[in-house]
Amino acid sequence: MPFELITIPCLSDNYAFLVHNPETGQTALIDVPEAAPIQAVLDKRGWTLTDILLTHHHWDHVEGLADLQHAARVIGAKADAHRLPDLDLAVEEGDVIKICGTSVQIFDVSGHTVGHIAFYMPDPGYAFTADSLMAMGCGRLFEGTAAQMWASMLKLRALPPETLICSGHEYTASNVAFALTLEPDNEPIILRAEEIKAARNNGVFTVPSTLAAELATNPYLRADDPALSAAMGMPGADPAAVFAEIRARKDRF
Ligand code: ZN
Ligand code: FE
Repeated sequence: MPFELITIPCLSDNYAFLVHNPETGQTALIDVPEAAPIQAVLDKRGWTLTDILLTHHHWDHVEGLADLQHAARVIGAKADAHRLPDLDLAVEEGDVIKICGTSVQIFDVSGHTVGHIAFYMPDPGYAFTADSLMAMGCGRLFEGTAAQMWASMLKLRALPPETLICSGHEYTASNVAFALTLEPDNEPIILRAEEIKAARNNGVFTVPSTLAAELATNPYLRADDPALSAAMGMPGADPAAVFAEIRARKDRF
């Protein structure tokens, strides 16, 4: 089925996403950092929102909802219903819901916050990961533990490699610069750094990225890669401990 996926830059470095099914005419929005840029795309395309999916409660992912004109169904995590805008449908890990005529699987990807969810659409192969798995990165650990975020990474890592990882921010240039401090001689990361630099110089988004690219280069998905733990001076260490050290070094970067 031919879906349309549109990445919408919002605020200073956030992304929202629209998924449109031309066969059913349905349109879903994932996260609402601010209303105006999203409304502009909807108006231009003549699309009407049928569903709004919220990944987590942080203001830069929900703030625009109040200003967006819509009669859409608002969907978010049951665990966070008390701190999300009013939900029409509360979901949790393992739930499968129908959005835009296709099935959507719910994953708990806690770590950045406890209650952060990801939405995975197997048919078009999109995963909306917001501030869990990001291009070359992962979200900061505001509420969860490193072990929790590592468990979330393992869930996302199991998706098909061709999956498009639709993450919440344009942080990729900083993320790849940091990854090179861990592994300055890692050829795939060096190549990806050049691609990212070229993209940013041309104003091209680095999001979404493929899971295949993240599997090859994203340090947070590779905490159990012996080459990475060795490069970090932690040979043989527990992957969750390596993950915690990567995240801690990034926080100081
Ligand atoms: Zn956040
Ligand atoms: Fe965010």
